[in-house]
Amino acid sequence: MKQTTTVPDVSLAEFKRAKIIATLGPSTNSYEKIEELIAAGANGIRLNFSHGTHAERTKQIAWIREASAAKGKPVAIIQDLQGPKIRLGDFEGIINVKRGQSLMFKFQADYEKTGHIPTQYDLSLKVKRGERIYLYDGKVQARVTSIRDGLLHAEALNSGILLQRKGMNLPDTDFGGDIITPKDKADIIYGSSQDIDYVALSFVQTADDITLIRKMLGSVNSKAKVIAKIETKAAVDNMAAIVQASDAVMIARGDLAVETPAESVPVVQRQIIALGLQYGKPSIVATQMLASMVDAPEPTRAEVSDVATAVMCGADCVMLSDETANGTYPIESVEVMKRVIRYSETNMPFTLDMQYENHSRQASISKAVISLADNIAAKAIVVETRSGATALQIASRRSPIPLIVVTSDTRTAQQLAIVCGAKSYVRPVDALAATKLTDWLRKNKVLHKGDIVVTASGHYPGVVGTTDTIKVRVLE
Ligand code: PEP
Repeated sequence: MKQTTTVPDVSLAEFKRAKIIATLGPSTNSYEKIEELIAAGANGIRLNFSHGTHAERTKQIAWIREASAAKGKPVAIIQDLQGPKIRLGDFEGIINVKRGQSLMFKFQADYEKTGHIPTQYDLSLKVKRGERIYLYDGKVQARVTSIRDGLLHAEALNSGILLQRKGMNLPDTDFGGDIITPKDKADIIYGSSQDIDYVALSFVQTADDITLIRKMLGSVNSKAKVIAKIETKAAVDNMAAIVQASDAVMIARGDLAVETPAESVPVVQRQIIALGLQYGKPSIVATQMLASMVDAPEPTRAEVSDVATAVMCGADCVMLSDETANGTYPIESVEVMKRVIRYSETNMPFTLDMQYENHSRQASISKAVISLADNIAAKAIVVETRSGATALQIASRRSPIPLIVVTSDTRTAQQLAIVCGAKSYVRPVDALAATKLTDWLRKNKVLHKGDIVVTASGHYPGVVGTTDTIKVRVLE
């Protein structure tokens, strides 16, 4: 992206701090719609690689970058990998399941000829006797009784129906670090040739999965950061290690509410947001946030409350899936989210408990910047950053003082687009980048005479990890 030169059309105090991620789909598959999403308040765009071709993705990525440049606003592009999303295979009609019935599953079976329910993945490779299989979003549950010659027998634990290609969840199955499928690998290679900021890994089980995808991304020279999608029971058990190993974390409530009890998801959501704040990792709350807006122009009261609660608990992002991918009101959904975020932020006192300890140099400098800015009632914190690490640390402390970021790295500005409170500007490497950006904001009446600004910069501008200078300026 070129230098972001657009002067914001609202005052610093009115900036939306929590960010919005919108998923592209048939409802938003055009340059015009993408520009509207960004204008309405979307900061990140998710490309769901469970659908679509690479050629379609290439076109969408070009549209996003063009629209982002047109709006003068950095936008994060997220490549969401399908992962081992297991589905039933093809069969005609409906399979009626009775409680206690013995079901037989086989990879790519012909149901009409054999009575074996076809699966798109050879379950016998990973699933063990006694484990549970959840079918069709958990509507039918079964327990594995035996596995022989690729044929898996399971006892239905309840009655229900099955339709072809419906999803299967395996909450007890250990994939043993083998969650990145051949399709994901091909998508990672494709993504490395594209202007992508984040890769989201589905069905993560342990921190080792994150280490593995980092290696894969490194081997294809990708600069994308890694988002861990928390949607399995194993990931919940290992959440602290996964958050630390990742660059960002998504509470993928759709599958999570199938793999773990639905009533546990709100608690897990809060735990993960808190871990994100503790380790300076952006958190994303995803799925069904405004689900009724797929068909209706207004959200339900409960949905408004869901978005507001995520914001007030300290989430960096709220995400739209079906609402913007397949819904009738994609732009309205973003507008609603923006209104709810703004109201929550303006009317909620910032009382998040940020008492955790982190003695790293970056964290200590960030803490000092905030404390100083707070004590002298600064109007803004302006931070110069190459990798975004200092900005992430400052952002994670959720100070109410606006955080302006200046970076020479377009990718950093794009990656920070989904970080709560960070508003980024791209400028050339310069020892005075923070000072010059402050002057520019003053000239454009974003800041005013007499405003106090705290700047954080480095002795070696453009070099990662060298933030060492804090300045206080009273603007002329
Ligand atoms: C989810 O399950 O909530 C989720 C975000 O993942 P996906 O939409 O890829 O199934």
